[in-house]
Formats: sequence, structure tokens, C-alpha cells
Amino acid sequence: MFTKFGTYYFRISRLLVILMVAWFFFGCAASPRSLSIDDFASDGYYEPLPPLGEKGYFIKQLAPEVYFFSTGAYNNIFIATSEGVVITDPIKGKGKLLKKAISEVTSQPVKFMVYSHSHIDHIGDAYLFAGNGVQIVAHVETGKALKRYRDKNRPLPHINFGTNYSLSIGGINIELIYMGEGHGKGNSIIYIPSRKIMMYVDLVTPKSVPFKNFAYTSDIYTQMKAIEKALKLDFDIYVAGHLHRPGTKEEMKEILEYYRESKKASIEAIKNISFLDVRSKTKTKDVERLFGEYLDTVAEECYRILKPKWKHRLMGFEAFTKGHCDIWTSYHRTQKAP
Ligand SMILES: [Zn+2]
Repeated sequence: MFTKFGTYYFRISRLLVILMVAWFFFGCAASPRSLSIDDFASDGYYEPLPPLGEKGYFIKQLAPEVYFFSTGAYNNIFIATSEGVVITDPIKGKGKLLKKAISEVTSQPVKFMVYSHSHIDHIGDAYLFAGNGVQIVAHVETGKALKRYRDKNRPLPHINFGTNYSLSIGGINIELIYMGEGHGKGNSIIYIPSRKIMMYVDLVTPKSVPFKNFAYTSDIYTQMKAIEKALKLDFDIYVAGHLHRPGTKEEMKEILEYYRESKKASIEAIKNISFLDVRSKTKTKDVERLFGEYLDTVAEECYRILKPKWKHRLMGFEAFTKGHCDIWTSYHRTQKAP
């Protein structure tokens, strides 16, 4: 019995090996096209991240004293003046790399740390720079949020500004401007007028639709208005907190255009989709589910309207656009009917 089973087992294993070898040599070649990493990269417009190398980050001088720091998906700026360094948003898990990057260009100490907003992914390594007289600056709402979070990795600001704050160091003026609620409360612009450089985090990533639900917006209308106001400032390039590179003013305008067109498409979709129609086609007797189906159909229609122009123009279209449509529909249903 044992011998018979052993022979049987041996035959099966041999057959498996032959099948695997055959698959390896002929299976791949016979399939119409083999899969490569690019098959999973994108379903629309796509910009690959450049290799970061062993360092794990790269820096680029944008203007005298102003440096762009990026770890690929995240970024910030730091300003290395003759009187000390101003850093912005010490990215969570990347603070040590930021220290290294700064030491590449200056031996001056960090004097100011500016938070664009309170979110942990952007400022989670702030504790590495706190102390030694470093002044932390943020909008008053950012300070309030951080008080609530009680996170030792995100020390509280020393300077809590209202609408504006001017920071002067080493002959450079840095303007902090609050454009209003949107990506939570307190998200502020860091603007260097003499260099025509701006940092505006999370709302306007170049060549990308906004992140999920308009970057988890708390007020889509004010958020869009804030971008309009930002565009009135005199700047050539901006840093969005994400992506491996800064953006141009034209690229910020393009994202604003997407905000506007998604709003328009949502209005058109509301007009195109009849609630009674959805009701007549559904099988559900559950009124909540019926509403869910109606709203999903509206979002689907809004996405369909936007797709020809935007899918191959901005990254993230397939991932986030239906959600954006939904946010606009909520806005029309709760704040201002179209
Ligand atoms: Zn954020």
C-alpha cells in the first residue's frame, strides 16, 4: 500500500513539475502580453516618481535661500538664511532626513518651524525640531486642534496667528495667510513674495485631482474660494505638500478648473437623473437604499460627464472623481440648490 501510494505520489509530483516547467517556458510566451509593473501604475494620467536613491530624499534649490525637500510622495520647503533656518511641515517619519538635507546646505540652526496645518502625516516629526528656542508658528485653529489631539510628537505653536502673520529673518519676508476653511480649519499658505514661491498643502497637488472627498473637505465652497484667492497672489511656483516636484501657477489654475468643472458636472448630473426614474427601475423597498441608488446614479453621471476631458489629464481621476461628484451633490442638497 505504502509503495503504491509512494509511486502514485511520485507520478503526481513529476506531472506537476512538468506542468510548471511547461507553463514557465510556454505559458508566459503564449499569453498576449506579459504583465509588467506599469500595468498597475495608472488608469489615466500618470507621472512616475523619480528614484530617490540611497539617501531617501532629494532637495532642489528653488530660489536664493529657498529649498524644496521631497521624499517622493511628500514634500515641503525650508529657507536657509544667514540668521537661521525656517522649516515647514516636518513630515512624519522623515524628520531625520530633513535634518540631513538642511545640513547639506547650511550649518545655521533652525529658528522657526511653521505648520501649514495640524495633520499628522505632514507634521508628525515636529518633536525632532522642537526645543532650543525654536519658535513654532501656526494658525490659531491649528493650535486649537493640536491642543485637542494632545500628541507629544506635534508640540503646540508658540505663535498662533489669526488671518495673517509676517515672519522676517535674514532679510527675507515670509507671509503666512489663512484663506479660510476647507481642508479642515487652519490650513494656511506660506508665501515668500520676494521669491514668488508659495506653499499650499493638500488642496492643489499638480496634475492630480484632489485627494479623496476633496482632501476630506469640511467646506467645499470655501475651499474652492480659497484657491481662487491664492491664485491672486504673485507667484511662479508652488509646493503642494505632495508629489516629487513643485507646481507652476498654470498647474494650480488647472486644478481650480477641475474644481469648477466638477461642480458644473454635478449640477448637470442632478438635472439628467430623475429620482422617479431610479425609483421605477429599482427592486428595493427600502427607502434609504433607494436614496443611496439615486445618489450613486447621480455621481456616476457626473463622472461620465467629466471623464473625456479629465481622466487623461490629471492623476487619481478613477480613484477620486465619483467621490468629488458626491461632495458637490451634498453641497447642492444641503447648502445651495443649483
Ligand atoms: Zn492634510
